Amino acid sequence: MGMTRVAGCEHVPARITEPRSESCEECGSRHSLRLCSTCGHVGCCESQRGDARAHALGEEHPVVKSLPLGDRSFTWCYACNAYV
Ligand SMILES: [Zn+2]
Ligand SMILES: [Zn+2]
Ligand SMILES: [Zn+2]
Repeated sequence: MGMTRVAGCEHVPARITEPRSESCEECGSRHSLRLCSTCGHVGCCESQRGDARAHALGEEHPVVKSLPLGDRSFTWCYACNAYV
């Protein structure tokens, strides 16, 4: 994954839902977590089991943010396949 960003991603929800868990909801991992911006699901990154990706594709909630939220958090859109 490069750091190319796309302008004009239309998938980012107007309101980012707060994380509803402190660990991956599927496997319990507590590091490199991703937040589903749409519903607050917390899942692990693709170098682990990829539970965040599975949720994003399965639920059609394409936009994830890296946790913890803050200045260093990034936003990835699985529909655009890009940082947004
Ligand atoms: Zn998008
Ligand atoms: Zn997981
Ligand atoms: Zn979701």
